[in-house]
Amino acid sequence: MESAIYPGSFDPVTYGHIDIIKRAADIFDRLTVSVLNNRVKTSLFSVEERVNIIKEVTKDIPNVSVASYDGLLIDYCKQTNANVIIRGLRAITDFEYELQMAQTNRKLGEDVDTIFLTTSLEYAYLSSSTVREVASFGGDISKFVPPFIADMVYERYGVVR
Ligand code: ADP
Repeated sequence: MESAIYPGSFDPVTYGHIDIIKRAADIFDRLTVSVLNNRVKTSLFSVEERVNIIKEVTKDIPNVSVASYDGLLIDYCKQTNANVIIRGLRAITDFEYELQMAQTNRKLGEDVDTIFLTTSLEYAYLSSSTVREVASFGGDISKFVPPFIADMVYERYGVVR
């Protein structure tokens, strides 16, 4: 049984992430989307809120579960018996950081491999930080995230649309 973890900040989850989740769920028996509790970055949504949002958008995909983790990703993979880490690659700018992280994780845990899925063209430009920035100025984020997430993001910024 191949079990994969898709880790990230997902602050908030976007259509780009959702596309990767669906495609990874087709490839692996079990996929856990895991929200990193990052102590360095300040986030718009709490870890619990992000987990609940992702649970809602993945509720119809039976082999996807949602969790959070705190600490080293490779330890989390070992604890949950996951042998694959999924990451999305949007552009060459993602590559250097992702390569370094994948190689580091391979050194820390030889049984765990990182597999990259290239983003679908229509989402190549999309990032959670763009969503936050556009929303904070009252811009339209309806092409970036599902409607209930857009409402939550606007509410967080006190934007009335
Ligand atoms: P992190 O802070 O760990 O980079 P993100 O939530 O920003 O977390 O991203 C999680 C993963 O999803 C990363 O591998 C990232 O490259 C990928 N990703 C982000 N946006 C997109 C997108 N629009 N299309 C495909 N993959 C994406």
